[in-house]
Amino acid sequence: MDQLTKDKRSANMSKIRSVNTKPELLVRSYLHKNGFRYRLKNNLPGKPDIYLKKYMTVIFVHGCFWHSHKNCKRSGMPKSNIKYWENKLDKNKERDKRVIKVLKKKRLKVIVIWECQVTDAKNLSKLTKKIIG
Ligand SMILES: [Zn+2]
Repeated sequence: MDQLTKDKRSANMSKIRSVNTKPELLVRSYLHKNGFRYRLKNNLPGKPDIYLKKYMTVIFVHGCFWHSHKNCKRSGMPKSNIKYWENKLDKNKERDKRVIKVLKKKRLKVIVIWECQVTDAKNLSKLTKKIIG
């Protein structure tokens, strides 16, 4: 299933890791077009990607690999250093859970959208409902 060489994979990963990942930009431009104003920089726990203060809403644009998107083909475990990756990804998952809990305690609405979902306009349009509703 995994035809990527080690080198290519680590190149892909560093792309995924960069701050202004494309999925995030797609979400941002969608929000902007729809009149939502947001802040990128915030000191909220877990540093959510997008903070819509007016709506008391934060949005995380999660990379499928880094945040272990369930049943997603982008979230496959690398073939080498499995222990390392399991450990790392488990930690990410735990942190996600913890962060979401804390944010909810602050009475913020937490929306998670996955990188594999943001290319579909239908999924993006659901965001409006989630934010306003
Ligand atoms: Zn996914």
